[in-house]
Amino acid sequence: MMRQYELVERVARYNPKADEALLNKAYVYAMQKHGDQKRASGDPYFSHPLEVAAILTELKLDDATVAVALLHDTIEDTDATRAEIDQLFGPEIGKLVEGLTKIRRLDLVSTKAKQAENFRKLLLAVADDVRVLLVKLADRLHNMRTIRYVPPDKRQAIAAETMEIYAPLAGRMGMQGMREELEALAFDILEPNAAAMIKERLEDLRARNRDLIGQIETDLAARLDSHGIKADVTGREKRPYAIFQKMQRKSISFEQLSDIYGFRVIVEDVATCYRVLGVIHSTWAMVPGRFKDYISTPKQNDYRSIHTTVVGPRRQRVELQIRTAEMHRTAEYGIAAHAFYKETGRGNGAARQNGDSRAYEWLRRTIDLLSIADNPEEFLEHTKLELFHDQVFCFTPKGRLIALPRGATPIDFAYGVHTDVGNTCVGCKINGHIKPIATQLENGDEVEIIRSESQTPAPAWLTIAVTGKARAAIRRATRDAERRQYAKLGHHMLDDALARHGKLLSSGTVRTAAAALGQPSPDDLLAAVGRGTVDVKAVIGAIDPALAAAGNGAAAPGEGGPKPVPIRGAFGDLPVRFAPECGAVPGERIVGVLTPGKGVTIYPLEAPALAALSGDRDRFIEVRWEVDRQSDELFPVQIAVSAVNEPGSLGRIATIAGDIGANIDTVRMTRRDKDFTEMRFTLEVRDLRHLKEVLARLSECPVVSSARRVLN
Ligand code: MN
Repeated sequence: MMRQYELVERVARYNPKADEALLNKAYVYAMQKHGDQKRASGDPYFSHPLEVAAILTELKLDDATVAVALLHDTIEDTDATRAEIDQLFGPEIGKLVEGLTKIRRLDLVSTKAKQAENFRKLLLAVADDVRVLLVKLADRLHNMRTIRYVPPDKRQAIAAETMEIYAPLAGRMGMQGMREELEALAFDILEPNAAAMIKERLEDLRARNRDLIGQIETDLAARLDSHGIKADVTGREKRPYAIFQKMQRKSISFEQLSDIYGFRVIVEDVATCYRVLGVIHSTWAMVPGRFKDYISTPKQNDYRSIHTTVVGPRRQRVELQIRTAEMHRTAEYGIAAHAFYKETGRGNGAARQNGDSRAYEWLRRTIDLLSIADNPEEFLEHTKLELFHDQVFCFTPKGRLIALPRGATPIDFAYGVHTDVGNTCVGCKINGHIKPIATQLENGDEVEIIRSESQTPAPAWLTIAVTGKARAAIRRATRDAERRQYAKLGHHMLDDALARHGKLLSSGTVRTAAAALGQPSPDDLLAAVGRGTVDVKAVIGAIDPALAAAGNGAAAPGEGGPKPVPIRGAFGDLPVRFAPECGAVPGERIVGVLTPGKGVTIYPLEAPALAALSGDRDRFIEVRWEVDRQSDELFPVQIAVSAVNEPGSLGRIATIAGDIGANIDTVRMTRRDKDFTEMRFTLEVRDLRHLKEVLARLSECPVVSSARRVLN
């Protein structure tokens, strides 16, 4: 176990101004509190927080974070309290320890829903101070390092969670070293056979190619040196888990892997990175498709480097990463590399977090998304998607970079720019050409979103969008639009009911009724009436009990009389659908039937289905057509056509319908005998006159013996 002075020395080495008294006090306090508690390994419990603290010193974190690591299990596992920690160590540390306590119980969960909810809590705890996440990752790392002491049946769950959430989260925070170790430890448990096989093959290879890595290092360094470039060249085998992933992704065997070795070239400045690239490409043949410049376009986790693969020295395929020392530090430590050290005394923790970090920005955005996401499970799915998937980088016409997960569409792009841009998107141009909004974006695409203020997101976009942000916003906009429709319908219904009593609906009466009926707002009341979950009569009663007692009221003539609900079609501003068995067309007399939760179904007055509903008269709503003659909306009706059995009959019927602008939506054979076939069509027409015209033209057709409207 590390000694007290060793830990303090380690911090003081990279941070001479560290508060040694704080570290000493936290060490002693945590050790005393954990007392003789033991870990599963039999070690004193205190060895765990101490190791977690040690991991954080490797990341060179500030003294407060290291102290929090020492204290991180005290509130949960000992009689320590937040108040006591506040008093001894100050509220900044108290708050961090409490954040860790809150997410402590998140470990070891089985169900997906639970895992999702826990992930949400984790991010909420991190929202206050990203150092909570750094301690949590170090905590998980130490628990993974000692997982062999955990009962075998629990190991799988812990390893799976590490692989699914913590390792990618560390990667997304740019902490490559942390991510690689978490992955390696989880890989051994999740895929023990594959892990053992790959390690064995790597060892064979090492025995056969004695010091191949060293030779290539020397060759590369010598070549660079001959061009006057000072560079630090190091090579390594790829990690077993990275090899496993590649074998899986490409469905190939270990022997078919061509690049087992990766080399890193670290130089002084950016200009030299490109000089190195030039020397390497002009010396060895580059492998096409493998060149990536993350210096000019950094990854979203701040990672910067040039990647390329060449058929290099000793005819080996060699993968190279070229970067500066500073880029290397960011690649290894990520968000932890940004200074957390306080400039003067006890600063404000949150203020010290580096605002320029893109990884931090991503975290913030993900946390913001929590407030608009509908359910935690979906949120987790989409966060995972963003954690795992490669990115595509696209640009606005003004050159702003929008990073999206692979598979993203212009809808995702639009929401990536701004929620308002997404909500008003009607189309897009990709690299100057109009393209469908379902197009998958490619790296480097310039995307221009075409907007219209009158647009609202179509629910169908949910199948096109892949990012959590876009999907949550679409769902919310759809829900808002639907709610507005219901509120409008509710308003019409109340207006109509009051008019029967010669009264007018005012915003004041709605407010009074909403309060009386316990609805949060007048709009909520109106939407509930439109949905059919609050009865019109109940609202009238709340406005004026005398009116409710007076019954339905007589239809007063003229001004102030009944005001039927205007029907503008299925895509108007009310939640309306047409009776599925018969449809309804403008020009015929109709009635609406309110179905709770489903809005209004419109029936022709003659529809036989209405008879079955007549016991439910309260649900009937007076409606009238108010269809814009300019609009080209078509309305569905059912017609039955009897035609002679002869090839081409159906074709002739379809031609007639098409000629006069009616749409055949579906056809179904209802009867067929030797001479005649009876067919049922769902036909879409403009109005009653249009329907009559279609029926007349069909009846004139020689192959048709009869054509008529059906209502059931
Ligand atoms: Mn712990």
